[in-house]
Amino acid sequence: MKIVLLGPPGAGKGTQAKSISNKYSIPHISTGDIFRYNITQMTPLGIEAKKYMDKGQLVPDDLTIDLIKDRLTQEDCKNGYLLDGYPRTVAQAESLKNALEANNEKLDCALLIDVPREFILDRMTGRRVCPSCGASYHIKYNPPKNGVNCDECGNEVIQRADDTASTVNNRLDVYEKQTSPLVEYYKGENQLLVVDGTQSINDVFKQICEKIEAI
Ligand code: ADP
Ligand code: ADP
Ligand code: ZN
Repeated sequence: MKIVLLGPPGAGKGTQAKSISNKYSIPHISTGDIFRYNITQMTPLGIEAKKYMDKGQLVPDDLTIDLIKDRLTQEDCKNGYLLDGYPRTVAQAESLKNALEANNEKLDCALLIDVPREFILDRMTGRRVCPSCGASYHIKYNPPKNGVNCDECGNEVIQRADDTASTVNNRLDVYEKQTSPLVEYYKGENQLLVVDGTQSINDVFKQICEKIEAI
């Protein structure tokens, strides 16, 4: 199964991706997590990506497209994958489509987690993430069991550098301009599925499973 997760920053893509990846045994590939890992390792890619991420801008397509092309050829992607945060531009979507078509493959679906803008600021400023495994928490809606450490791996959860009110607004503008056209794009490809992302984390997951299993 090959799935793309779509939705604004803070929609719940990372949260749902963990559950989808576990249930359907496909790797969860998050471009944001890959960039953040490269930043902690201070690789050339990380140093370049950080300049854009700190401002809430997209990392340029040429860096991002090659990174994902390479990742998708790895052994664990043979039976499918779940893309979280990729594609984010029409050029990225076209590149993914061409890479799939070259192998006579296609996506099973692009799943939009639909959340109106007024929900997002609260979700993102309350977000805490595990720097080690990428798990996403929320101080009100989904805190770690002991309030401090990741339930999965025990590391202390932190606030992301780009989850401040000013950067969030910029990221939402970037989403509207550069990423939201992908909703129409995937509708045109007959691959779009939509779930209501304003419901509880469990209820969103239920909707997602129903939609996936009805394909
Ligand atoms: P994304 O990967 O789309 O940016 P996350 O999965 O990191 O989003 O979720 C953003 C924040 O909102 C996190 O703090 C997460 O715990 C919280 N969250 C995710 N889904 C829901 C939901 N359905 N209801 C309330 N809070 C949620
Ligand atoms: P969120 O889900 O909260 O928007 P991500 O972790 O997906 O956050 O992305 C964080 C940042 O990483 C983005 O604001 C952007 O700078 C960069 N990024 C992630 N994925 C992409 C992509 N596909 N293309 C360009 N930049 C990306
Ligand atoms: Zn963790």
